[in-house]
Amino acid sequence: MGMEGDGPDDGRPAPRPKAPLGERASWRLLLDQVRPHRRVLLLGGLLSLVGSLAGLAMPVMAKRVIDAFGAGGALAGPVIGLSAAVLAGALISAAGRFLLERMGETIVLDSRRGLVDRILRLTVSDVDRLKPGDLLSRVSSDTTLLRAVCTDALASLVGAVFMFLGAAVMMAIMDGLLLGVTLAVVGLVALMGVAIAPRIRRASLQAQVALGEMSSVLDRALQAFRTVKASGAEARETAVVGAAAVEARDRGVAAAAWTSLAGIGAWMSVQLAFLAVLGVGGARVASGEMEISALIAFLLYLFYLVSPIGQIIQSLTQIQNGLAAVTRIQEITTLRTEPAAEPVVRAGGEPVGVTFSGVVFRYGDDRPVVHHDVTFEVPAGGMTALVGPSGAGKSTVFGLIERFYEPQEGTITVGGRDIRDWPLGELRAMLGYVEQDAPVLAGTLRENLVFGAPGTTDEEIARALARTRLDDLVERLPEGLETPVGHRGILLSGGERQRVAIARALLRRPRLLLLDEATSQLDAVNEMRLREVVAEVARETTVLVIAHRLSTVTGADRIVVMEAGRVRAWGTHDELVAADELYRELAATQFLVSS
Ligand code: ATP
Repeated sequence: MGMEGDGPDDGRPAPRPKAPLGERASWRLLLDQVRPHRRVLLLGGLLSLVGSLAGLAMPVMAKRVIDAFGAGGALAGPVIGLSAAVLAGALISAAGRFLLERMGETIVLDSRRGLVDRILRLTVSDVDRLKPGDLLSRVSSDTTLLRAVCTDALASLVGAVFMFLGAAVMMAIMDGLLLGVTLAVVGLVALMGVAIAPRIRRASLQAQVALGEMSSVLDRALQAFRTVKASGAEARETAVVGAAAVEARDRGVAAAAWTSLAGIGAWMSVQLAFLAVLGVGGARVASGEMEISALIAFLLYLFYLVSPIGQIIQSLTQIQNGLAAVTRIQEITTLRTEPAAEPVVRAGGEPVGVTFSGVVFRYGDDRPVVHHDVTFEVPAGGMTALVGPSGAGKSTVFGLIERFYEPQEGTITVGGRDIRDWPLGELRAMLGYVEQDAPVLAGTLRENLVFGAPGTTDEEIARALARTRLDDLVERLPEGLETPVGHRGILLSGGERQRVAIARALLRRPRLLLLDEATSQLDAVNEMRLREVVAEVARETTVLVIAHRLSTVTGADRIVVMEAGRVRAWGTHDELVAADELYRELAATQFLVSS
């Protein structure tokens, strides 16, 4: 089984977001969004149109009222008729508007849901490359743009097309030749619109990209808020965010300029059509082929085309913005995703071992090789430690076991089975993973503990808390387990965060626990306690721990020494002190042996 999900591109390397789609493809995407709602769109457009036509009937009705008034006749009938028409027109318009707005909201909801589902199933390597702020902006701002297009622009377009066709039919009945002249002129100017449309779309796309950039810079600053302040970088970061905002404004202004030009085109088309009809019609009147009254009537109808043409141009330009938004939404949906697996939590079971054989890995084709040839074995049960200098590739071992990344060569097995053969959900359910920076999510302490194992009982939580020596903390907290821990667990100390992460991993009852530098932030007393905990856990399950402090792993059953993407030795502490120079050096610098 491959890592690929239902993303269309299964090859390596993972595809980057594609270049802006062509006009046709963008339209198709937009229409795909609208297609399920086409009946509502037509009905809403039609109701709005009927509402406006009721408006057109108003002058005639008013004339009747005035006539009745002048003639001294009964006023009640015409007044009631006029009021009813006003009310009916307003109600019908409002109903049409509501239907369209509701449809817009549904389309936004669908695309947001789809996007979020997609984003959370992207592969880790793609998310490493994408900017979180930009992703957020796609979910919020681009989908909002989509709504404006689906409600206003498409509905107006439908209404305007109806009006245009109506006027054209009337004109065809009156004089086919003059209609031909009109349409020829309008068509010529429409070509200009066709040339302008992609420019509006491009400018709008650039504006949205700049907005995404703005979000990602702001996100970066908020993620490292203290560092920004401590570095006195507020003004500089503000300037960077500001520059992205200025870019968004400039692109927006460019789109507005092209839109105005399109507006001029609409106006010109009507004026030119008027002159052309006047010229051709005038000549025909002069030669006696046409009556002057017919020409005047035709010219009057020509002006009926003005409003729908203006409306159509306006809608089409607005739709260009929507096409830009659709393009950005689509970029996410073309990325590879992991297969949607039924989440399996707390698989439980016997401890499992791990083997790496001949693993070669780099994070991307343009990246240096991180694992040159990694081969080692972790027996089931007990504690195995990974040690080595910084950058040796230890954390990468964990990323590969979790299948966040795929090695280019070699085989990794868990429980004697190639990890590519495990269903992803089952594989991850076997593993408990404590990341290097032990992340804690916003929410309560309880939510954090049961994050990996919903349905955990209070007794189990209490046991995990006792094991990780968090029970004192919970007693001290004002609301116990229900105490909020703040954004990224900021209300906890570094050591507490780490123990929360360990307790969370333990509650999954892992068959293999992966601890990445789990003890680096603990004080001496807590570190000793945790060492006991890990030793205790290692009696029930397999523990693979990455440690910088050798003191925490000297008691490990097996220690694997990594250096620069290779495994250089393994054995017990004593064996390695005797046999491996690097290990002896590491031990010496940490005062465990005298060199
Ligand atoms: P440390 O002890 O400092 O955590 P380590 O032995 O765990 O180091 P790794 O984190 O595995 O080392 O990193 C090995 C190399 O891989 C480093 O050179 C690092 O720059 C690179 N690397 C790590 N994570 C990524 C990533 N997500 N994308 C690209 N390169 C990465």
